Parts: sequence; structure tokens; C-alpha cells
Amino acid sequence: MAAVVHSTMMEYPLTLIPVLERVGKFFGGVEVVSRLPDKSLHRYTYGDFYRRARALAEALQQIGLQPGDRVGTLMWNHYAHLEAYFGIPAAGGVLHTLNLRLAPGDLAYIVNHAEDRFLIVDEVLLPLYEQIRGQIAVEKVFVVPGSGQPIPTGYDSYETLLASAQGNFHYPTLHESDPVGMCYTSGTTGRPKGVVYSHRALILHMMAEALPDILGLAQRDVVAPVVPMFHVNAWGMPFACAMVGAKQVFPGPHLDAQSLLDLMTREQVTLSAAVPTVWLAVAQALDDQPSKWALNPDLRLVIGGAATPESLLRRLERHGITPYTSWGMTEMTPIGTVSYLKTTLAGSPEAVQYTYRTRQGLPSVVVEIRGVNEQGEIAWDGQTMGELQVRGPCIAAAYYRPAEPMDNWTDDGWFRTGDVVTIDREGYVNIVDRSKDLVKSGGEWISTVALENALMGHPAVAEAAVIGVHHARWQERPLAVVVLRAGQRVTAPELLDFIRPQFARFWLPDAVVFVEALPRTSTGKFLKSALRAQFRDYVLPVGSS
Ligand code: AMP
Repeated sequence: MAAVVHSTMMEYPLTLIPVLERVGKFFGGVEVVSRLPDKSLHRYTYGDFYRRARALAEALQQIGLQPGDRVGTLMWNHYAHLEAYFGIPAAGGVLHTLNLRLAPGDLAYIVNHAEDRFLIVDEVLLPLYEQIRGQIAVEKVFVVPGSGQPIPTGYDSYETLLASAQGNFHYPTLHESDPVGMCYTSGTTGRPKGVVYSHRALILHMMAEALPDILGLAQRDVVAPVVPMFHVNAWGMPFACAMVGAKQVFPGPHLDAQSLLDLMTREQVTLSAAVPTVWLAVAQALDDQPSKWALNPDLRLVIGGAATPESLLRRLERHGITPYTSWGMTEMTPIGTVSYLKTTLAGSPEAVQYTYRTRQGLPSVVVEIRGVNEQGEIAWDGQTMGELQVRGPCIAAAYYRPAEPMDNWTDDGWFRTGDVVTIDREGYVNIVDRSKDLVKSGGEWISTVALENALMGHPAVAEAAVIGVHHARWQERPLAVVVLRAGQRVTAPELLDFIRPQFARFWLPDAVVFVEALPRTSTGKFLKSALRAQFRDYVLPVGSS
């Protein structure tokens, strides 16, 4: 009988440790730039970062951090948060990023649910921490200075913690399946749900993310992670940038369009990523003052977290920017799909190319997809709708200590995303809606995302959200809630005429309401549940539909 063959490869765990060593050894001279609360710029190198991340790891071990202990971070995007990203896992701890936009009650619930042992908090966020301190039981709170003044009494200083390290840090033995970090989903129903990432999932995600057809990260890039570091690890960018040695530029708490454009110009950023609402504001600022900023001519912007209107792609392109869309979820570490144009589509008419580019796109190399409806797996015909289901090595197989039983996984091991999609012959995913946002009118589904994207194509519209409201005959009908751009006017009938050619008659909203602002989730997406509550008793105009 022939001998059994075993692989002759090393059993080498995929962990963050070699990534930290690599960035320290090879890219020690590359800069990390952070905007501080007072708008000044903090600059240092990956060499400084490497020493300080290891000092943090050593100091945490000295104060008794045990493998698997959770360390919460309540911080904006900046150098100290990057140190926590690497220093906590390097000590064997679990990085638990806390979403500072959550209501204090939810924040306290999450800290308690994760049983965070230590917290690292920005000094400017102490007022938020003060609101939850009576409801949580953490051992120590380390404050990252921001005011130049001494740390308020009663708190420990992050800088003093780092200074306590002796410089003789030894990495613990880590396994690739060990937890590296956790993040709670910003679910709009039920309690927040915890996702725990492993070192292995994170490393595979970083490698996939750096590929040319995903973020295309190179050492020469200058990357500004605008998406918050408390939102799925800023989509993994701080980790992947360190791996390739790309300069990072952090915006701190200054996320308005003017501040972002100033920073991106000053540092000649080549890649940034955020939700559409951020880039809508940036497009508006560029439209208003087209020659104010000399952005890097190679600037790419990743737009994800919510659907991107075609008009936004076109507006950004008019300013020499290359935008592309991406879809993902907290449960997916998070990148799921990216919409780049395959060479086989490059010859198609311009309108067709834009259709593909506004879709959510093709799956990452570590993600498998399928669409499923009551009849089974959907055909990839670009028409049939079904729930998108995914599986792969960077996708959660469970939630952390769920508060209630979960039906988010199928019996054959796929994660149910809750997004309703079509998939076309080329394999591009198109999100029709969140399953709970779809409007069902007389038994027919209407995509609110498609209506919103069309409405936002009107030059007078800044933002638009569409929700279903009760209708005596059709059960539900779409209502458009619209924010106009400053100084612009348009009437409801004009808006409906504008989008009419794109939709079946029954898809058109029954009414358009103009508002000053749309409610947003803690991660900057339109908060449809709040809108639905606000317009629960809205009476549609007589004779509608
Ligand atoms: P989160 O876990 O907070 O990142 O939210 C994930 C959800 O955001 C997804 O299930 C989608 O409903 C939505 N989402 C993320 N990216 C996109 C996108 N590019 N287009 C449409 N919806 C998106």
C-alpha cells in the first residue's frame, strides 16, 4: 500500500504578530498622521508606532491582562487607536472597539455583555464615558490625552501606562483561531449582537483586501480610513495598511467635508473609504468650490455600508476622483463584494458600465455567495430576487453569547445576510433592499433602494429615503422623504416626473415629503426604522394609487 501523503509545509499560525514585526522592521520610516481634536496634526512613523504598540502590550501584561481578556476602546480614528489595534492582541487580549455614537444605554449593555476588563478612552470622549460609568464595572480606564492638560483626577493616563513598559516584551503563544477583536452590530432591532474575529479571519481578510480588485493596497499608497475605527475595524484598513507598509492618515473627530478635503489635499491621499453620506457631502463641497482643493490625481474612494446612487459616482468623477462601491457586513470582517468592471464588460455602452458599477459587485476571493427564495436557489438572471447568503473563512459562524435564539444561519452552514438581491449572469450582486425595508404593495415588492438612488440623481436633491406607509387598499405604498440641497427648489410632481421613466407605474412613491434632515444610524446610514416610526400615521393623499 502506498504511503499516506502529508503536506510538508510548516504549521505556522496566521496571527497579527508577524504583521506587527513586519511593519516595524521594514517600514519604520513611513509616516502615520493623525488629526487631533484641536485640529493640529500629530505625526510619527511606523517605527514609533511599533515601539509604542509593543509597550502597550507589555504594560497590559504587567497589569495582569490574561489571554482572552477584553480591552474596550472608546476612541476616534488616530495613532493611539492604531496602537490599541495591535498592542492589545499582541498581549493576547481582545480588542473591543466601542461605537461612540450609540446611546449610552446600548454602550453600557455592550461593555457589560463583552465583560470588558480595561478601557482606553479619548479625553474628549470622557463626557460620554461619564454617562455610562455608573452602569459598568471595568477595572481601569486609561485616558488618551487630547487637551494638553493633565489627565482629570480619578483616571489613569494612557501615556503613563506606556511609559511603565521596560522594553523587554515577549509575545505570548497565539493560535490562529484565538480571538483578536470583537465588534457589535448596529442592528436596528433587538439587542446589539457581538461578533468575535479570529486572528486567522483577520489575516485572510487583510490579504484579500489588499488585492488589486478589492482595495488594491500598495506600499506607495497614502490611505485615509474615514470610516470609523469603531465600525468593523474601519473595514480592516488600518491592519491591511500596516501589512503593506502604506502611510495612514487619520481624520480624528473632524469628519465634515471641508476638513476631510483639507486633510486629503495636504497629505495627498490616494485611497479613502466611508459611507455614501460622507461622500455626498464631499461631492457637494467640491461642486460648490471646484478649484479649492488640489487632490491627488490618483485618488480612489471606496463607497460602502449603504447603496451608492449612480449620480454620486458621476459627480465624484467630474472632480477627477475614481469612486467604487463595496458591500459588506460586521459579520464578514467586513468586505463581501466590490464593484469593479471586468475586462469582458469594458466594451459595453457607458450606461451599462455605470449599472454594473453601482451594483454591490463581485465577491471577494474569500467569500462564496448564493441567493435563496421560497423556491430554492435563485437563477443568476439579474431578475429573480432572493436573500443573499454567504460563507467563507472570514464570516461569523455564530454571535457571541446571543441574548435570544438566532436564525441567521442555514442548516447547511450559510450566513443569512438579510439583504434581498438579484445576481446577474456575470455574477454581480445587486442589493434590492434590506428584507425589512422592502415595500410590499398589493403583493408586489418595490425596491426602496432603487427609488432612493433615482431621486438622489435629481440635481436639487441632497438626500432621499423611501419607506413603506400603510395604505387601505394596497397595504403598503412608498413614501419619499427628501432633503433638498441648500438654495434649491423642486416640487413633488417635478421629482416624480424626473424618476417616472425609470420605473413601473406602481413603483412611484404616492407622496414626497420634504424635511430638513434624515435620521441616521450610528454608522451614518439612513435610519429607516426611525422614519417609519415618524411617518407611521402618515395619511397618503386622497386618490393615491
Ligand atoms: P454593518 O454590519 O453595520 O456594516 O451593516 C451591514 C449592512 O449594511 C448590510 O447587510 C447591507 O444591508 C448594508 N450595506 C452595506 N454595504 C452596502 C452597499 N454597498 N450597498 C447597499 N447596502 C449595503
